[in-house]
Amino acid sequence: SIPLGYFGGVGRASKHGILVKGSNFLDALTHVRTVVFDKTGTLTQGEFKVSRVVTMNGYDEQQLLEYAAIAESGSNHPIAQSILEAWGKPVDAAHISTVKEISGHGVVATANGNTILAGNDKLLHRELIEHDSCDVEGTVVHVAVDKTYAGYLVIADRIKDDAAEAIRQLRKRGIKTVMLTGDETSVAQSVAAKLQLDSYYAELLPEDKVRHIEALLGGEHKVAFVGDGINDAPVIARADVGMAMGALGSDAAIETADVVLMTDSPAKVVDALDIAGKTRRIVW
Ligand code: ADP
Ligand code: MG
Repeated sequence: SIPLGYFGGVGRASKHGILVKGSNFLDALTHVRTVVFDKTGTLTQGEFKVSRVVTMNGYDEQQLLEYAAIAESGSNHPIAQSILEAWGKPVDAAHISTVKEISGHGVVATANGNTILAGNDKLLHRELIEHDSCDVEGTVVHVAVDKTYAGYLVIADRIKDDAAEAIRQLRKRGIKTVMLTGDETSVAQSVAAKLQLDSYYAELLPEDKVRHIEALLGGEHKVAFVGDGINDAPVIARADVGMAMGALGSDAAIETADVVLMTDSPAKVVDALDIAGKTRRIVW
C-alpha cells in the first residue's frame, strides 16, 4: 500500500503545474530509470513552417501548395496547420468530397474529382506512386495528384528551448532518455544528436511506439513516457507512468495520462521526478 504522506506530494506537484492522478504514480515515479519521449510537440515545438517547395511534372508552386492545402484542410496535425498557413488563403470546403487521415502516413482527399495525397514516403509507397528520394534537413511532405507525383514541401520544426537542459538534468540523475517518432530517420537523428539522447527510433507508426514501450517494460525499473497526445494516447496508456503535456495535448491523452504537465515544457518532467523523490524521502 502507498503511504499516506504521498498525498502531500500530489498537492506539492499541483502547485508546480503537475497534475498527478494518484499517489501511486508519485511512488512509481521514484522508480523510473528510463524516460521515453515523443518527438513532435514534446521535444520540439510542433510548430512547423514550410521552408521549401519543390515542384515536379509541370506543376507550379502555387498549384502544389493549393493541392496540399486542400488535402490537409480537414487535419489538425501540426504539419497540416503549417501547410494551410503557407497557402495563406481560405480553402473552399465545398469542393472536397472525402478526406481520409492515415495515422503516421498523411492524408488522402478527393476534391474537384481529383485524388490528392499529401504525406510521407510510406504513404506514397503504399499508394504505389514513384518519386525520387530526397535528402533534406526537415520533414518532407510529398504531394501526388491522380497518381502523378507533383513534388514536395519541406517542413521544419524547432527543438524547444529547455529540452537540452532537461535531458542533461535527467542524465545527471542517472536516467536513460529515449525518443520515439513517426518522423523520418534523418530528422530524428539530428534531434537526438543535438539533445544527446541515449537512443531513438524513427519512422514508427503509433502501434510500433506501443511495441517499443512494451519491450522496455517489465524490468525492475519503471518506464515513463512523455507525449503531447497527438497520435500517442495508446503509448501514454501503456507506460508505467504515462505523462501528457496538457497545453497542446489532446483530450484523449489527458484522460489516459497518469500525470499531466500543465505547461508544454520538458523541464516539468525533471520537476515531477524531483518532487516524487523529495516526497519519498519525507514519507519514509
Ligand atoms: P511524431 O511521432 O513525430 O509525433 P506523427 O506520428 O504525428 O509524428 O506523424 C508521423 C509522420 O506521419 C509525420 O512525420 C509525417 O511524415 C506523417 N504525417 C502524419 N500526419 C500527416 C499529415 N496530416 N500530413 C502529412 N503528413 C503527415
Ligand atoms: Mg507527436
